[in-house]
Parts: sequence; structure tokens; C-alpha cells
Amino acid sequence: MAHLLFLSFLICRLIPIVGLTLHSSDLLPLQLHIHPSTTSSVSTDFGGTTHSTPLAILHPTSPHDIAILIRTSYLSPHPFPISARGHGHSINGQASAPQGVVIDMSRDSVISDLTHDRPLPFYSSTRHEYYVDVWAGELWINVLSWTLANGGLAPKSWTDYLYLSVGGTLSNAGISGQAFHHGPQISNVHELDVVTGKGELVTCSDDQNSELFHAVLGGLGQFGIITRARIALESAPQRVRWIRVLYSNFTAFTKDQERLISLHSDFKRFDYVEGFVIVDEGLINNWRSSFFSPSNPVKMSSLGGANGGVLYCLEMTKNYNEYNAHSVDQDVEELLKELDFIPASIFTTDLTYLEFLDRVHKAELKLRAKGLWEVPHPWLNLFVPASRIADFDLGVFRGILGNKTSGPILIYPMNKHKWDDRTSVVTPEEDVFYLVAFLRSALDDSGEPSKTLKHLSRENQEILEFCRKEGLKTRQYLPHHETQSEWQHHFGRNWDRFRHRKAEFDPKFILGTGQGIFQPSS
Ligand code: FAD
Repeated sequence: MAHLLFLSFLICRLIPIVGLTLHSSDLLPLQLHIHPSTTSSVSTDFGGTTHSTPLAILHPTSPHDIAILIRTSYLSPHPFPISARGHGHSINGQASAPQGVVIDMSRDSVISDLTHDRPLPFYSSTRHEYYVDVWAGELWINVLSWTLANGGLAPKSWTDYLYLSVGGTLSNAGISGQAFHHGPQISNVHELDVVTGKGELVTCSDDQNSELFHAVLGGLGQFGIITRARIALESAPQRVRWIRVLYSNFTAFTKDQERLISLHSDFKRFDYVEGFVIVDEGLINNWRSSFFSPSNPVKMSSLGGANGGVLYCLEMTKNYNEYNAHSVDQDVEELLKELDFIPASIFTTDLTYLEFLDRVHKAELKLRAKGLWEVPHPWLNLFVPASRIADFDLGVFRGILGNKTSGPILIYPMNKHKWDDRTSVVTPEEDVFYLVAFLRSALDDSGEPSKTLKHLSRENQEILEFCRKEGLKTRQYLPHHETQSEWQHHFGRNWDRFRHRKAEFDPKFILGTGQGIFQPSS
């Protein structure tokens, strides 16, 4: 075995010289194939601002390929960095592996590979719940299509955009408007297969190898590579009533958002609660606003948002089926009548469940057609404690931003008790906290200084500096920090636990070096 590992190690070292990509199955004894190809395909990501070309790419055909590669590095006197790449939709090179190997987790038809010999759908008699086992490189859109087609089922907790990999979102948290009720995606996964930084393939769950299970969830790819995830399912609704209402008063807006996420009854609550901020140009630049269209213009001035004012849009959905379609209007009306929005500002649309969940893809296709998807994205995502969200509004939405946003700004609250404190993700220490997401696109050719990458990046720094100075105790979601002391501050009281987990599961600092948390050992 040792000579095979050495052989593989040699190949990894040779790759920069001959410019090859590792592909599973050429190197027969190790089940690793080598194919001529370029490594530049994984040198950047959705953020488009970092470039790092790995020495090699591995296209695994099984978890064992991943285990062999990691073990090769682990046993080598000169361990090399290894990072998994899901769909490369990070912003700051998090899935890169400078001077190392990127594992391209994407694969075709993996759900059927994993499930072909089992009866469908899968039911857990202990949890009284359906579930599906998926390859971690699978995209959520494929998971959804498959579960809908096999029993009319669907995962419970989502991201707004479905062309993200299961392993990629589970390494962060995975949040959207369902998180207030179901918790993030990492609260809706029951079991994982993980290859640790020692090259061991381990099955883990709340009951089995639980330290690894919790470490990996929200673990930023630091403790192991997830190869299989067991995702909790529910019966999928057929249709979705999607409602948006506007506010000019921030206090009324957040009071209503927080009220909506406090409702627990399965009948008298919305199924999804989000929101976004609209400054003067916001509606035009909000590529997610598929139903504020030019044929349905919103006159900001008529709604109290004129003269540099800011509007806030509360967004909700109510799921329903044919059998309860007759009552959906009444259910929505009853929930809306408790809210304090601008009366003339209700916008409603009705979609299938799939159309609703896949809504951002529609916007993606439009932006792609205009060449506006593959531009730099200096995104900033923050968790803001509910007690300080009004200060954030004053200082940032109505302060630092001026009247330019260069993309959507999301804002929605979540309940802390739906997050498991044992996972690696860090959230504010309050019962309710908000996600504020600045999803901006830099357009350096637009001729407008406020749309350049430089300007937007500087503004992000200003926002972070404002939060620090005002003691807002915000945390970055999808975090990016430059130094270990910044990371230490990010993790706060959980830093020691994070470090100990690293020492246990990836003692040679092989994994996830693109995050820049630990320096790889040489
Ligand atoms: P990658 O960028 O490939 O990887 C991200 C990190 O996870 C890297 O550190 C990588 O090494 C690690 N990783 C990847 N796969 C594995 C694995 N199998 N095992 C261990 N580590 C792994 N996030 C939300 O929560 N909610 C949203 O609504 C949302 N919307 C988005 C919309 C768009 C258009 C984009 C671009 C991003 C959005 N995100 C959202 C952010 C997204 O969840 C993260 O960027 C996520 O990391 C992307 O998944 P990916 O598969 O592209 O991961």
C-alpha cells in the first residue's frame, strides 16, 4: 500500500510540471485517473475577485478516491493542501487549494447511484420522517427535482438559489425564508459520511461520532470532506401564494417580521418570511424582484420613499394544495390584517412550489443573457442581533449606502433556538438575529464610480468598521477574514473548540486552506 500512496504522491507533485488533471480511474491500483485538462477551470469563483490555480484537480468516482488522496497527503512528509469544491459559488476563494489539489465534487446522476437498490421513498420509523441520501456534490435543484418526482417530497429548509451543492451549503449553514421555522439546512440533516483530514471515511450523526458530525456542519470545510448527506424531507406543497408588502417605517417593518417568525401554529403562520431594503435605485437593480416588473411599476414617491428615503419590503409565502385551495385567501388575509404595512402596497403572485423555490434561477438566466452574471460580486453577509438592527438601519441603509446599492439587500430575522449550538457556525448571542445580505455586482465599465469593485469593496469595509465601532456584535455569514486573530474574534468563545476540532480531525492542516483560517503545515 505504501508504495501506491507514494506513487500517487509523486503524481500529485508531477502535475504542475506536466499540467494534468487527476481523474478517477486511470491510475488503476489507486482508482485515480489522470486526464489532460486544465486546472484553470477552478481557479476562481462566483465572487470573481480571487484567482488561485491548484496543482491538480481530482474528479472522484467514490468516497474512497477522496480518502486515498487525503491519506496520501496525510502520510506524506510534505502534506499538500486539499479543498473540496462544490459548485464554486463562494465569494473569496474559499474552495481553492493554493499549491494543492481541488476535489471537484460535481457528478452526474449520483442520487440514483446511491439509491437504486433501495425501496422508495425512505422512511425513518424512529424519526417518523422521510429522508434521502445524496452525494454531497449534488446540486440542491437536482435533489428537489428527484424528491418531487419520487413521492412528491422535498427538503424542508432551503437557500434562495438552488444551484449550490449540498456539501457547500452544509459547510456554511444554508439559510432562506424557511429558516425561522425549520432552522438552517444544517438543522435538517441527520447523518453524514465524511472523509477526515487523516483520510478516514467515517459515518457520523447526532448519535454516532457526534463531535465530527457537529464540527463539519457549518465547519467551512475544515474538518472533513462530506461525501454523503442524509436530508430530512416533508410532503411538498403543490402551490405557493407569494406576497410582498412595503413599509417606510423600519420599526414597523421589523416588528412585523419578528411577529411573523414568532408564530408557531402550522396553520396560522407563513411558510417563508424574508424581506429586502429598497433605496432609490433599489427596485431597478433588484434582480430578485421578479414581480415588481416594468409593467407593474412601483412609484416610490407615492409610497413615502421619495427624497432619498428608504423603503422596506416584507416578503412572505403561504403554501397550499388543491384540497385546501379554497381557504388560502382567507388564511393569508387573516395573517396580513395583523401587519402594519403601507395599505396600497400589496403585491401578490401564485406559483408552483418548484417555480417558487427556483425563482432566482430565472433572474440568473436574464442576467446571463445581458452578460451581467459573470461580473465580480463583492458580497457581504452579516448576522445582526435584533436588539441592534435599528442602529444598523440608521447607520448603514440610511447612512453609509447613500442612495446606491448595486444589487439586492436582503434582511430577515431568524430564531436562534432553531440553530444547534454544537455545530461550528457562529451566530449572535440573542434569541432573534437578522441576516443582512448585500448582494452587489461590480460594474467597472459602467462609468459610474459608485458601481466599481473598488468602491463597493471600500463600502463593505466601512460597514464592517461601523459595526465594530458601534459595538453591534455582528457576525459574518459565509465569513471572510484575513488574519488568524480576525478569525479568533469571529469565533469568539467557540474558537478553542474550533481549534481542538481541527487538531483532532485535520491535525496536519490539509483541508480547506482556501478559507485562510489555518496555515498548512509544510
Ligand atoms: P463552494 O463554493 O464550492 O464551497 C464552499 C466551501 O465549502 C469551501 O470552503 C469548500 O471547500 C467547502 N466544501 C464544498 N463542498 C464540500 C464538501 N462536500 N465537504 C466539505 N466541504 C465542502 N447561501 C445561503 O445560505 N442562502 C442563500 O440563499 C444563498 N444564496 C446564494 C445565491 C447565489 C447566487 C450564490 C452565488 C450564493 C448563495 N449562497 C447562499 C451562498 C452559498 O451557500 C455558499 O457560497 C456555498 O458555499 C456555495 O456552495 P458551493 O457548492 O458553490 O460551495
